[in-house]
Amino acid sequence: MTHVAPSPPSANSLHISTVGIIGAGQMGCGIAQVVAMSGLNVHLLDIGKAALAKGMAAIANNLEKQVARGRISGEDKAEALGRIAGETEHSAFAGVDLVIEAASEDEKVKKAIFATLCPILKPEALIASNTSSLSITRLASATDRPSKFIGMHFMNPVPVMALVELIRGIATAEDTFSAIHGLIGRLGKTAVSAEDFPAFIVNRILLPMINEAVYTLYEGVGSVISIDNAMKLGSNHPMGPLELADFIGLDTCLAIMQVLHAGLADSKYRPCPLLVKYVEAGWLGRKSGRGFYDYSGDRPEPTR
Ligand code: NAD
Repeated sequence: MTHVAPSPPSANSLHISTVGIIGAGQMGCGIAQVVAMSGLNVHLLDIGKAALAKGMAAIANNLEKQVARGRISGEDKAEALGRIAGETEHSAFAGVDLVIEAASEDEKVKKAIFATLCPILKPEALIASNTSSLSITRLASATDRPSKFIGMHFMNPVPVMALVELIRGIATAEDTFSAIHGLIGRLGKTAVSAEDFPAFIVNRILLPMINEAVYTLYEGVGSVISIDNAMKLGSNHPMGPLELADFIGLDTCLAIMQVLHAGLADSKYRPCPLLVKYVEAGWLGRKSGRGFYDYSGDRPEPTR
């Protein structure tokens, strides 16, 4: 197998020392953790105090696990946590060099965030969106700085996964691209450049596979366990597709399939009706305690 080295940390990114992160869900927290561990300061914002407190506790918990495994010292953990400030007011972002938006996968939500945020940011601040599927060009057009806007798509779980997809919108300036490319190297990650097409590279390939696994369940071809074991043992996937769907979040999976279906206008991307039903029921996977597995007990139990 070819070894892919981390991207080189470039001098173009050195002006980035303070990063604002919007959304303290699983992605925003993972990004905050990695950015703070790399020595940068973080302002982490969510809509409510409860969501923020849950996110900050998740970061502390993850870092504690790394200390227990001997990967980092207690001092590293304390220093990283000291670099993350939890926020509920956008005014805290007045001094940031870069915003990474990691709120829910909903274009209206993201555009409303940019409308509130842009007047507060300093003019030279860059904006990156962690969207899994939405058009970077369209999101950029909802800001006052399309040339300073870019797609920066981290993978889940952020502290573990090496890749960041980097997506230029039509107006993204070369300086913006090279600064964020260099930052990805400073975070110890590897950048892959993707064009601004629905769901970019990873999710263009991954999500139709997950959607097909849900169809396989829906049509009764196999049970949850059969489908997951088949792909783990038969294709050497580290997680089964339904387990992975629960991990990503079924609302996020559905949103990505809807973007692929609408954006590429091909019926092969039609979201499986069972996926739609689960989301309508509020069964969003791990984050809500139930998806294709039930997470209320000691170990996940398949629901079908
Ligand atoms: P999540 O549901 O875990 O977290 C989203 C967070 O955004 C929540 O805490 C919510 O309260 C917050 N939020 C919603 N509206 C907000 C607002 N107006 N202002 C501030 N915060 C707001 O979702 P997630 O899995 O962390 O996904 C976040 C983004 O990352 C989405 O765009 C998603 O597509 C993308 N992403 C997800 C994955 C994944 O595997 N889940 C992987 C890569 C990228």
